[in-house]
Amino acid sequence: MSLPALSSVDLHCHSTASDGLRSPAGLVTYAADRGLSVIALCDHDSTSGVAEATDTGRRLGVEVVPGVELSSEIEGLQAHILGYFIDPDSESLQREFRWMNETRQARIQQICANLNAAGIPIDPVEVLALSDGGTVGRPHVARVLVSNGFAESVSDAFSRYLTRGKPGYAVSEKITPEGAIAAIERAGGVAVLAHPWSTKNPRAALERLAPAGLTGVESYYGEYSHPVQEELAKLAREFDLLTTGGSDYHGEGVKTVDLGGVYVPPETVEHLRIAANKVRSQAGMAPV
Ligand code: AMP
Ligand code: FE
Ligand code: FE
Ligand code: ZN
Repeated sequence: MSLPALSSVDLHCHSTASDGLRSPAGLVTYAADRGLSVIALCDHDSTSGVAEATDTGRRLGVEVVPGVELSSEIEGLQAHILGYFIDPDSESLQREFRWMNETRQARIQQICANLNAAGIPIDPVEVLALSDGGTVGRPHVARVLVSNGFAESVSDAFSRYLTRGKPGYAVSEKITPEGAIAAIERAGGVAVLAHPWSTKNPRAALERLAPAGLTGVESYYGEYSHPVQEELAKLAREFDLLTTGGSDYHGEGVKTVDLGGVYVPPETVEHLRIAANKVRSQAGMAPV
């Protein structure tokens, strides 16, 4: 059914700790089945899946890099910041997660109120139940809309109801990208700009974020064509930043790219580790 993994390394995937479909243990088991040797678990605004993933990885011979994906924006466009080799229990990160989570819960109430007002009945209780204590987001709303027959698929639900300008859209307060980079650094990790084209201007984003302490660029993103990936790698080098990559796998049928479905040079992991150890030694933290 699925194609064999292209890569032994995948530095961007999600579990049920946010909006992925597989549990952290299930995701790592799937990585082992696909022959991957390293994955980074990067749930949205949460590290609650990291311990389970790491334990499973130890048993199955998959290295799990502790990661996170912080939801920030530049001029209303997604500027997601990935953090690698973070300390998942970092008090500074957990403090950020608490307010982000409260804001997300409030946004779910607003989205459901907007949909109800537009004649699409949806109960926020059902959405929160589906997220089951993980970071709740629009994908959970989308799945409830699908299961109640208001959309054909998650992406259909997004384009009909949940993107900017559609009846269910609601804004919410976000951490700034600079704040995200600083929080990741305080947690002993290094920050990478995820899927840079979501900002619509990767060069401008790097001009702003390189001086703020960004370490890398997710050049090898699963949904980008090879020429776009190469162009982003060149841009990263121009700013003296590392290149990273991953599939952004959320589970079967959510996005088009499977786990391990984009080639990521294996030496990327050591480059990130060395960069994280520089941060950690300056902060008096143990190396990873
Ligand atoms: P949120 O955190 O609530 O803003 O939702 C963002 C999540 O929704 C990301 O994980 C994306 O993968 C997912 N997403 C964004 N746009 C779409 C889309 N058009 N179709 C499917 N998933 C999407
Ligand atoms: Fe997601
Ligand atoms: Fe993202
Ligand atoms: Zn992601």
